[in-house]
Amino acid sequence: MAALTGEDKYFNAVQRLWENVVNKKMYLTGGIGARHDRERFGANYELPNLTAYAETCASIGMAFWNHRMFLLTGEAKYLDVMERVIYNGVISGVSLEGQAFFYANPLESDGKFKFNEGQLGRAPYFGTACCPGNISRFIPSLPGYVYAVKDDALYVNLFVGNTARIALKSQAVNIRQETRYPWDGAVKITVEPEKAGEFSVNVRIPGWAQNRPVPGDLYKYVDRSDEIAVLKVNGSHVGLNMDKGFAQIRRNWRKGDTIDLVLPMPVRRVVARTMVKDDTGKVALECGPLVYCAEWPDNGGKVLNLALADNAQLKPEFRADMLKGIVVLKGKASAVTKNADGSAASIKEQDFLAIPYYAWAHRGPGEMAVWLIRNSLSKRTSL
Ligand SMILES: [Zn+2]
Repeated sequence: MAALTGEDKYFNAVQRLWENVVNKKMYLTGGIGARHDRERFGANYELPNLTAYAETCASIGMAFWNHRMFLLTGEAKYLDVMERVIYNGVISGVSLEGQAFFYANPLESDGKFKFNEGQLGRAPYFGTACCPGNISRFIPSLPGYVYAVKDDALYVNLFVGNTARIALKSQAVNIRQETRYPWDGAVKITVEPEKAGEFSVNVRIPGWAQNRPVPGDLYKYVDRSDEIAVLKVNGSHVGLNMDKGFAQIRRNWRKGDTIDLVLPMPVRRVVARTMVKDDTGKVALECGPLVYCAEWPDNGGKVLNLALADNAQLKPEFRADMLKGIVVLKGKASAVTKNADGSAASIKEQDFLAIPYYAWAHRGPGEMAVWLIRNSLSKRTSL
C-alpha cells in the first residue's frame, strides 16, 4: 500500500514495524516469531533459542517484505536482512535432498524437545502444509531478486553464479556473475551491453563486509575487521563510491568489461544486545552471510556444554564430503561439566567443529547450538 499509494503514513507505519522487528524481534538467522503458542512474536527482545518458532513461512515472508522495502527505497540494508534470512532461516527449512521440511527453525536443540510439529527432524509433509509449498515457490523465484533496475542503473543485489539479460531504460545489458559465494567472497561480473554506453552498475556491499551484521544494534561483531571490500573494473582498483549501501560504478560500459569484487570472509564472532537474556554470555559464529552452529555428531555427542574462548583460533575448511559440500570452522573449545549447584566441576579442551546452520539436522536428533557459551576471558582456568 505504501508503494502503490505513495502515502507517507503507510510508509511510516511499515517502517516502524520493520524497525521494531529488526531491532528487537529478529533471530540471528533472520527468522522471526518467538512463540509456538499462536505462532507469534513475543515481547521485545524475547528470543528463546530452544523454543524459537521462526517458522519457515515467516522467514520467506521476511525475505519478501525486505525485498519490497528495498524496491521502495533503494536502500541495501533491506537486502542485508533478506540475504541473512535466505541463507540461514529460509533454507534451514528444507532438507539438502529437498524432500523434508521444518515448520519451526530453532537456534538450539537438546535432542528432546519436539519442535517440528511433534517431531525432532524435518518432516515430508504437515497437516498444515504451508511451509513445503512456500519453499517450493520461493526457491524458483530466487533469480528475480538477484538484480534490480532503476532508469539506467543496474543493481547487483545478490551474489550468485548466473547469466542474465536486464533491460535498462536506454538498452538491454547482458550480465554474468562467476563466484563460489557464499564459500568465497570473490565475485567476477562481466558486463555486456548491446552497444557501448553510459550507465551505472550499483554493486551491493553487504553490511557484514562493513562490520555490521545487521542494520540496527540487535547484534554486533565482537571485533572490528580491517579487511575491507575491494572493487576493480577491468583489473584496476576503483574507490567505493557508496550510496545507500551500493558501490556505484558509472562509466561508459563496453562489451566484456569486468568488475571484480572481493568481499573478505574472516570468521566473525557475534554477540547480542544484553537485553536478549537468552543470548547473555554467549557468542555465535559467522562467515560471510552464513550463520554457523555446532552440532552433536561433530563435537563428541554434546554441544550445549561447550565454551568458546574469544582467542580460540577457528579455521575455515571446505569439506566436499560433508553435507553436500560445506565450509566448516575448526578449532578448540572447552567442554564444561557442572556440579549440582551450577559451578564448573571440570573443564576439558576438545576439538571443535561448526557447520553452516542451514545444514543441521541431517544426521539424527541430538544437541545443536548457534549460541555457544562465551569465554571472553580467554583463559580456561577463569571460567
Ligand atoms: Zn509455514
